[in-house]
Amino acid sequence: MSAPPRRRRSTALIRLLQIFTMCAAFLAVHFSAPTPAQAYTHLCGSFFGVDGNDPISYRYYSITSTYYNAFNSAQGRWDATGATGFFRYEKNNGDPEIEVRDGSYAWTDWARTSSQGCTLGYWSYDEVYIAFNSRTMGGLTAREKKIVAEHELGHAYGLNHVSLTCSNPGPAVMRQGRDKFSCGSDGPWYDDVQGVKANY
Ligand SMILES: [Zn+2]
Repeated sequence: MSAPPRRRRSTALIRLLQIFTMCAAFLAVHFSAPTPAQAYTHLCGSFFGVDGNDPISYRYYSITSTYYNAFNSAQGRWDATGATGFFRYEKNNGDPEIEVRDGSYAWTDWARTSSQGCTLGYWSYDEVYIAFNSRTMGGLTAREKKIVAEHELGHAYGLNHVSLTCSNPGPAVMRQGRDKFSCGSDGPWYDDVQGVKANY
């Protein structure tokens, strides 16, 4: 009389093992691919009234051709992604959402994006200024300058810095420093676009 219960116990154990194996196989199939990068972080602000495919106006204030080219390429790169809105050049706009300039500045950064105010989560007053430092960026290639401009536009969108690497879990233009330059393509990347979508 002791054999049947043992057999039942072992049958139940095999069932459990089968279920466990099936679960493990399911998990392996569904989670063996690298997790999509979603490490974006946000600054205080975003552009008010921007949704779907609304324009974000920008204008140059004292720009040389080198940084005009960098910024112009960068805004085109962002517009080619699925990020919310698009950047629109408005030469005669007295109060554009983004003012772009370059100059030789004493500060050590390559570029700076500064918000002129943030009210209830939206950029306020003159919204956003972007300044490229020709003194510190001079040694960068044209491609690298473009990627720096993409980074600054990410700040304008309201993205903060992340520490993603090229392969794990994926590149991000919002990473600081030179490492993103060797990630193969030119950005903006998945995490950057997801960050913008989450902010608008
Ligand atoms: Zn930055």
